[in-house]
Amino acid sequence: MLIDGHNRMVDYLRVSVTERCNFRCQYCMPEKPFSWVPRENLLSYEDLFKFTKVAIDEGIKKVRITGGEPLLRDGLEHFVKMIADYKEDIDLALTTNGYLLSNYAQKLKDAGLKRINVSLDSLKEEVAEKIAQKDVLKKVLEGIEKAREVGLKIKVNCVPMQGINDGEILDILEFCKTKGYEIRFIEFMENQHAMIDAKGYTSEELQEIIKAKYPFTKIERTGSSPSQNYKLEDGYVFGIIEPHKDDFCATCNRVRLTASGVLIPCLYFEDAQSIKDAIQNNDIEKAVAILKDVLSKKPEKNRWNDDTTSSRAFYETGG
Ligand code: SAM
Ligand code: SF4
Repeated sequence: MLIDGHNRMVDYLRVSVTERCNFRCQYCMPEKPFSWVPRENLLSYEDLFKFTKVAIDEGIKKVRITGGEPLLRDGLEHFVKMIADYKEDIDLALTTNGYLLSNYAQKLKDAGLKRINVSLDSLKEEVAEKIAQKDVLKKVLEGIEKAREVGLKIKVNCVPMQGINDGEILDILEFCKTKGYEIRFIEFMENQHAMIDAKGYTSEELQEIIKAKYPFTKIERTGSSPSQNYKLEDGYVFGIIEPHKDDFCATCNRVRLTASGVLIPCLYFEDAQSIKDAIQNNDIEKAVAILKDVLSKKPEKNRWNDDTTSSRAFYETGG
């Protein structure tokens, strides 16, 4: 069992397989970075798996593959299969922008993937294009539909942005409700890589918009999800991820691995350590020691309410 420095059990590993992306979302990677991490500095799937195995042996029960855009990295289904074959009952999920999903959904399902989170910020072609800076909506919707057909459980992530997709909050909620997908609205998290004038919505503002049409009640938090959930009168549950609060930090159970082997204790936190050398030298003891050291330094609370703006890129940490 993995316990951090604040007595929290850590059983959730997020693994980023690439920082590259085929979208240029305004809130994440509005421009191509000056340089990508060279491919030779990325951990191979074998090495990412070697660390994932170490983490599972130490107590990790849930693994989420993310990026950048994870479906851009060739052979992702092989990585999924390595993990699923190692531990059949692992809660194995993927976060994707959905653009390539229609090509891969069946392969991923066959490899052992159970769940998928897809980012969907708009149901209007021109708005989706404005956010991602590319004509994406048709392919994303096809991808979601294909994932549903093959039997993957679907959750939708949406980042409402002022003056851009704010008129669509109810439309996206209704789309997900009708299709039977879970929806999580995510408060925009300020970071130095986002478009300079990007402005999001607070949870309270989002609740006001939804309440005007659908009265709801707050569901008391259980488990370790950062999402605060609310129930509509017909029983449909939606969530809002409220990073500007820190009440969910008390039950935080996650740790993040970047594609180049850096282990990050908290999305905002700057302190991180590389497991790359330990893993490539097959020094499992050292990898376990680094994992435990990183967890011992996991901060008690996130810092999104501080004045500083995080220099960590979401496409690097995997969100
Ligand atoms: N490319 C995939 C995608 O978009 O789903 C996976 C990686 S992306 C970094 C993971 C999640 O982070 C997405 O749901 C995205 O909306 C969210 N995200 C990225 N930048 C964000 C920001 N500044 N504030 C809030 N959420 C953000
Ligand atoms: Fe790419 Fe996802 Fe970031 Fe958008 S949010 S730029 S799809 S990594």
